Amino acid sequence: MENKLMIYNTLSRKKEVFEPLHAPNVGLYVCGPTVYGDAHLGHARPAITFDVLFRYLMALGYKVRYVRNITDVGHLEHDADEGEDKIAKKARLEQLEPMEVVQHYTLRYHKAMEALNVLPPSIEPHASGHIIEQIKLVQEILDNGFAYESKGSVYFDVAKYDKAHHYGILSGRNLDDVLNTTRELDGQDEKRNPADFALWKCAQPEHIMRWPSPWSDGFPGWHCECTAMGRKYLGEQFDIHGGGMDLIFPHHECEIAQGVASMGKPVVKYWMHNNMITINGQKMGKSYNNFINLSQFFDGSYPLLQQPYSPMTIRFFILQAHYRSTVDFGNEALQAAEKGLQRLMDAWNTLNNLVPGSETTANIAGLREKCYEAMNDDLNTAQVISHLFDASRAINQIADKKTTINSADLEELKKTFHLFAFDILGLKEERGNNTGREEAFGKVVDMLLAQRQAAKAAKDWATCDRIRDELSALGFEIKDGKEGTTWKLNR
Ligand SMILES: [Zn+2]
Repeated sequence: MENKLMIYNTLSRKKEVFEPLHAPNVGLYVCGPTVYGDAHLGHARPAITFDVLFRYLMALGYKVRYVRNITDVGHLEHDADEGEDKIAKKARLEQLEPMEVVQHYTLRYHKAMEALNVLPPSIEPHASGHIIEQIKLVQEILDNGFAYESKGSVYFDVAKYDKAHHYGILSGRNLDDVLNTTRELDGQDEKRNPADFALWKCAQPEHIMRWPSPWSDGFPGWHCECTAMGRKYLGEQFDIHGGGMDLIFPHHECEIAQGVASMGKPVVKYWMHNNMITINGQKMGKSYNNFINLSQFFDGSYPLLQQPYSPMTIRFFILQAHYRSTVDFGNEALQAAEKGLQRLMDAWNTLNNLVPGSETTANIAGLREKCYEAMNDDLNTAQVISHLFDASRAINQIADKKTTINSADLEELKKTFHLFAFDILGLKEERGNNTGREEAFGKVVDMLLAQRQAAKAAKDWATCDRIRDELSALGFEIKDGKEGTTWKLNR
């Protein structure tokens, strides 16, 4: 293809031409959820953003290996090296095994992702299943002199690393900034420098999630898993690492440092980050107590919501903004998205019923090229949607006989619409619509049976039999009983 995919690389702070290390193969790693609670809106955005990237890369003909991990150990409450393990805490509060918590919320996460039409990744590794790889990583960093052991824990020596390399290249921070914003935390007495982060933590006696290691019975630091698993499944260097902007520091910064400290060179070529979501203009966060779970969106049970919003409405709403802009969720905007999505789906149905004419007067030229151009410009899904709206208007004009389309252009329009709306943006017609449609079809059958009843009453046996026979031929089973006639569709 002529135009090339440009993506914004957080590392260089500019858009770069995407050139995979080993075309046609592409390695993509995205940080997945820590499974100690239900998936909320904050999970939906990265999942959808990188699902569209995954779909688009495949549409461009690349063979993509997409790794999205499940964090089930080592993610402490305050994201740094303090507090209880999030999974272990939930297990303690609910009197469950940690792995019961993990299993329960992993399944619920999958269900929510399926509802959002997010494709499953190629590999979904669990941190707890890769302790050996993480221990090996920690040992390499120790051997290379960028970590030290302290009371059974192992810490990354940020100051030493910063002298040899540069700590903070992704977030644009320098070591002084980091030190100035580091709070006095647990385990600080074990660290040489408050900026150091844990690679391995010695477990307290009451800590149940623990594994033996050369240093102590304990568990890996949160940042280790992505470095270890990315390397295992995508190699020592791979193409794209993604996640939410909130992960740039410390998580991704630490991943970069771990990669360089263990393997001597940067692991990731392109770093991509989606922006955050606000709710009625307010940041989403624990302190605001405004995490809306996806299930609460789907059933409308969250107090702030005026109605339920379907998974596709949420997907469409998120894609109406560029992934690097913030998205503000509010009822009005969601209702507008719901209507917009319906307009597109209606246009798709109209498109499938259009009758071609001998020539094309409709304004549909260049739709495919325009959509590719938008996607190639750092995944501008908002622009693609606006092109699809233009196409929808053209489709409605053809249906209203104001313009015409020939059969070749009609086929091309159908293919382009399907490619971008369904294959790449990942929209789908929802069951809600189908149920409504099925209901309507059912009523037509009822209507025919009522006519048959009238024919019977008038002793018009020929009409009576004809209706039954024709419905049977279509697969409807008609039963006359004492309570009246019933039917079902056998297929
Ligand atoms: Zn990660």
